[in-house]
Amino acid sequence: MPDASFSPLAPETIAVVGGRPARIPGAPVSPGLELSSTFVTPGDLDPGVPLYGRSDNATWVALEAVVGALEGAAEGATAFASGMAAGAALFSLIPRGARLVMGATTYNAMLASARQRADAGDLRLTLVDMADAGAVRAALPGADWLFAETVSNPLLEVADVPAVCADARQHGVRVAVDNTFATPLLANPLAVGADVVLHSATKYLAGHSDVLGGVLVTADPVLHERIRDHRTLSGAIPGPFEAWLTLRGVRTLPVRLARQQATAAVLAGRLASHPAVVRVRYPGLSDDPGHAVASRTLRGFGAMIAVELADSHAADAVTHRVRLWVPATSLGGVESLVERRRRIPSEPAVVPEQLLRLSVGLEDADDLWSDLDRALRPECWPA
Ligand code: PLP
Repeated sequence: MPDASFSPLAPETIAVVGGRPARIPGAPVSPGLELSSTFVTPGDLDPGVPLYGRSDNATWVALEAVVGALEGAAEGATAFASGMAAGAALFSLIPRGARLVMGATTYNAMLASARQRADAGDLRLTLVDMADAGAVRAALPGADWLFAETVSNPLLEVADVPAVCADARQHGVRVAVDNTFATPLLANPLAVGADVVLHSATKYLAGHSDVLGGVLVTADPVLHERIRDHRTLSGAIPGPFEAWLTLRGVRTLPVRLARQQATAAVLAGRLASHPAVVRVRYPGLSDDPGHAVASRTLRGFGAMIAVELADSHAADAVTHRVRLWVPATSLGGVESLVERRRRIPSEPAVVPEQLLRLSVGLEDADDLWSDLDRALRPECWPA
């Protein structure tokens, strides 16, 4: 990072300069890909000198520097092999027998992971409507940790993260926020009182659907140390190449997200008046239940949309008919993806069978619209 005389830097700048090698003659401009599994270490160990590839890697350090800086905790990021590996590290912070409050519509694998721990007696789980700040408040007395998604997957419900963090603090409850959908560009939960932020770096941070990764960020040195220890002992480390790809992706996150978000706003508006669409879920629409909270707490409405059609058959049919949108799971990449989420057996039953999740990519908005519109109107397809 440049010296402090440049600070505070805009996120667009941090995305480009974070983790950049020191500015000395002959230094590479772009961080290198460090593949070594072990390092030269004669004699006694020096804590500042890398020892072994399960605990140290310079490519992780560069990625962690930029993601940490984007989340407002430059020294506090830890990269993992996947978002779920980051989730496992997060759950390892929760003491045995503690009570965890979690959104009832949290991303299905994260929810399943919490349930598994609850079933094993490791924690007590209270599920709430995370978009209802009053319901969250009521669940806090006696709780130890709270896990919220800034914008939920796949229902696009918006948590009032500043309000939830303020209430949690009053009750001595620690807060973890999955900021995957919002990205650090739309929300910085640590700045409003969260203890830990989680990213599935697989999505917007890496942004090209070619790598899995996860990151935890905290400004608390004790939690940071425990997260680091968990990674070293569990071995849930990112591969150096995966970390490098993710870092490369972060460099263009601001331009990608700005474009994806602008296209999503156009598509959400058109979908809202499409005869085949029963409901559009997009926090940028003025009649969306999350619009007021999103307008107040986020710096943008994101690039994810969910639509409900007449029934699951209509929704499945769209995934067969689209030619430009790709019928695939995951999100946040340069290519637009569409998925009927309930085809995944572990998806919570509160997710409507007829719901399609749309991840808006970088293609032309009108091309994306034509493809969707045709797929939604089977009678318009040429025979
Ligand atoms: N959090 C959210 C909101 C997600 O959507 C996902 C994956 O879809 C994860 C966490 C888990 O991330 P990963 O697939 O990288 O393990």
